[in-house]
Amino acid sequence: MRDIAYNLPFFYGSISRSEADDYLRLGGMSDGLFLLRLCLRNLGGYVLSVVYELKIYHYPIERQLNGTYAIAGGKAHCGPEELCEYYSRDADGLCSVLRKPCLRAAGVEPKPGVFDSIREHMLREYARQTWNLEGEALEQAIISQAPQLQKLIATTAHEKMVWYHGPISREDAERRLYSGAQPDGKFLLRQRKEAATYALSMLYGKSAYHYKIDLDKSGKFSITDGSKFDTLWQLVEYLKLKSDGVINVLREACNNPSQPNEPVKPPSLPPNRQSVVGLACNPDGYTPEPFGGHRIHPEDTSSYVSPYSDPEELKDKKLYLKRECLLIDEVELGSGNFGCVKKGVYKMRKKQIDVAIKVLKNDNEKSLKDELMKEAEFMQKLDNPYIVRMIGVCQAEHLMLVMEMAAGGPLNKFLSSKKDHISIDNVVELLHQVSVGMKYLEENNFVHRDLAARNVLLVNQHYAKISDFGLSKAIGADDSYYKARTAGKWPVKWYAPECINFRKFSSKADVWSFGITMWEALTFGQKPYKKMKGPEVVSFIEHGGRLDRPAECPDEMHELMQECWTYKWEDRPGFEKVESKMRNYHDQITQKPTTV
Ligand code: ADP
Ligand code: MG
Repeated sequence: MRDIAYNLPFFYGSISRSEADDYLRLGGMSDGLFLLRLCLRNLGGYVLSVVYELKIYHYPIERQLNGTYAIAGGKAHCGPEELCEYYSRDADGLCSVLRKPCLRAAGVEPKPGVFDSIREHMLREYARQTWNLEGEALEQAIISQAPQLQKLIATTAHEKMVWYHGPISREDAERRLYSGAQPDGKFLLRQRKEAATYALSMLYGKSAYHYKIDLDKSGKFSITDGSKFDTLWQLVEYLKLKSDGVINVLREACNNPSQPNEPVKPPSLPPNRQSVVGLACNPDGYTPEPFGGHRIHPEDTSSYVSPYSDPEELKDKKLYLKRECLLIDEVELGSGNFGCVKKGVYKMRKKQIDVAIKVLKNDNEKSLKDELMKEAEFMQKLDNPYIVRMIGVCQAEHLMLVMEMAAGGPLNKFLSSKKDHISIDNVVELLHQVSVGMKYLEENNFVHRDLAARNVLLVNQHYAKISDFGLSKAIGADDSYYKARTAGKWPVKWYAPECINFRKFSSKADVWSFGITMWEALTFGQKPYKKMKGPEVVSFIEHGGRLDRPAECPDEMHELMQECWTYKWEDRPGFEKVESKMRNYHDQITQKPTTV
């Protein structure tokens, strides 16, 4: 796949800073002369190099997780082209407005980046393998998960490189470097004893030099305060171009005897996994095994900083969508108080995606309209792989809330219709994902208030997302709960005692609902407290009654749901604990190594 900036005549691809300087000098060094190049440090990032008063300024453009591009502290734009266009109208903090593009000479193509060709390939393979997807569903998953996936893959990609030797000692590293030819710049990377720290070992003048690679709090790698990189792989590629703080540029890779003896190439999947692609396997016989054979936990994808954590970021994310970009199908996916949810297609700049559209049936009823807008504004703040993403709102024949499509539908229906084909392990996998999404809400001080199996939607059998934020609230910074003014049409069977008694809603109350959701899932979609009416359930709970253990429920899961139903909210675990218990149990049953 070509870089999206490939066709810009002032885009030079993967050139170094000094090469950029050379091009600008050749271009005449007039004020506002500029070019665009790929950033060698940030995944998917660029650098804008601009001349002002005979000096050259370099501005890194970061690609954010929501797919927008911004210069640090500047506005977000949907692509590098739009960003350049913006700064050609307004300097907005840069040394100068962009006046004159420094054009590539005829016949000069942008220099390919080391990551270009392989990124797309790896992304696709990863999504295909981990989620067992094909066709349209695969494309959908790639669109909605691309930023997280890119980072995940790139952070483990070094393990496939010939220069990566794993956890070998310093002495072993020297032995390997000294074996065979000993040119300057011969190098390898190894893992140090301290967890997750690495070292670069290099030969220069027949001596071995060792550099510790630091990992800072934000997850960036660097050597002794040098440039910071998102991944080890990028650090190596950068040091091949520039001896930034080390004695020599990296030249020849010292090959790891246990890696294939080939130059740096796109990591490929082990043959046994490749052969699985496209084969119809037993519906529940599929165990996710991510790229490289290492288990990557779903929560790894949620650890990234939300692009919307800064309220400033919200300004540029467009809430309203154009009606002409939306095709609405007649197919109804579901319905509720507000109206119905229809299937549709949303045409984006370069692709189209399947969407679910919540259509307000009665636009004249202001309270319903306000509610749907509140739901949209709430969803706009959310950014997590296990939460349904909102695409935007469209005000046309009706007010419509457009979301990414979760084609598998609600978890309770899915499980009750497929109970003979779904294993308990599969159910645990999905519940763990829900706990990851809920942990994200807890961390961000949001309460869901309607967590139930009906509001967990499936992208596919192995991929769940939390939805329906119609009752959700943000908790004030100084509060630990939201207090509802009056009781409403509430899902009482899912509510904790303090919700009913004191109208107090916290993440701990969501934990109670998670317990009920666990029960629903582990009973394959049964209705909780079967024939009991709301008030009966309330009194049953007050008297210490709880739902029975589901027939096939593992002990660990039964214990956890009971913990979720701890009467006093102060004593109830939060999602941090619940997620960790879910994860440990899920790891235990899949018997996968938990450390990379
Ligand atoms: P309500 O507030 O009425 O419960 P929901 O947001 O839960 O509204 O949506 C109602 C139904 O519409 C869901 O149960 C589901 O069947 C369908 N639905 C909602 N959102 C989606 C989506 N993103 N993808 C697929 N189906 C959806
Ligand atoms: Mg619902």
